[in-house]
Amino acid sequence: MNPLPTAHPLPSPEPAFADLHLHTFFSDGTFTPEELAGHGARVGLVAMSLTDHDTVEGCPRMALACQALGIEFISGAELTAEMNGAELHVLGYYLDLENRPLLTELKKFQAVRQQRIHEMVSRLNRVHIPLRAETVFALANCHSPGRPHVGRALVQEGFCSSLDEAFDRFLKKNRPAYVPKFKISALDAMALIHQAGGLAVMAHPGLNRSDDVIPELVHQGLDGIECFHSKHTPAMSEYYLDIAARHHLLVTGGSDCHGYSKGKPLIGGCKLPGVYFNRLKQRHESQAGEPTPRIQPAPPDPAFTR
Ligand code: AMP
Ligand code: ZN
Ligand code: FE
Ligand code: FE
Repeated sequence: MNPLPTAHPLPSPEPAFADLHLHTFFSDGTFTPEELAGHGARVGLVAMSLTDHDTVEGCPRMALACQALGIEFISGAELTAEMNGAELHVLGYYLDLENRPLLTELKKFQAVRQQRIHEMVSRLNRVHIPLRAETVFALANCHSPGRPHVGRALVQEGFCSSLDEAFDRFLKKNRPAYVPKFKISALDAMALIHQAGGLAVMAHPGLNRSDDVIPELVHQGLDGIECFHSKHTPAMSEYYLDIAARHHLLVTGGSDCHGYSKGKPLIGGCKLPGVYFNRLKQRHESQAGEPTPRIQPAPPDPAFTR
């Protein structure tokens, strides 16, 4: 029998990582889908999901950009939801991008977001900040605008010197321009995701501090929990990995990158080990009756300059 060679051991395969929580300029991120996919390739991701707030509009472009770079793409969205009065974010993965009820609900959320911009601007005007809603909409250039767009407009127009200042002075809770956002119930969010063929995952539980709702969410069909997130400490990730194991939940994770933050993008800083991504994918494949439909490129929206 030949002894195993010791001088030249086989190289161990490169560890595979995914990032399943990302934003583009289709909501409040600043990257285009192509830029985001490029950053994903640069940091060596094998899979990426786009989880813009209340929209799936960026998914077709992101799918094409990922395909060109050999990165696996998973359609997604992040819905703002509530349970027992507490805000929580629900991520949907493997959504059918042509599912009518999903698209109808997302349109409603977007209309509410647009109305909320008008309300935030009115409140700013009341405290003598003469920002115009048109300025915010022009800067946002998307259907799903949010507070970061108002913040960026405040900086652009010279009313604040940084986004942090804009949030601290005007936009965060209990500040003069804060307007609460309409929230779908977490149970309705999960049902909406499920009927669109998706898997429902509780986003960044460490930021929302509403762990007491987890058993009820699990009872109502929660599929997974985001254990790895840029703002989770290692201890938090361990804690939620333990909760996931106890409730037989899938484990997900991602950077929640919104573009450049303090000079560099968060993407690559918080990665989901491939073993967990494979379990998510297997669950989707075992539930899907037929292969996920091919994602078609969306026609450009004449309302926006992109
Ligand atoms: P919205 O969905 O319109 O309420 O905006 C929430 C988004 O604002 C989050 O997804 C973050 O991207 C961003 N955000 C929240 N708090 C802050 C903050 N203090 N500074 C900068 N961005 C923030
Ligand atoms: Zn955001
Ligand atoms: Fe979130
Ligand atoms: Fe997010």
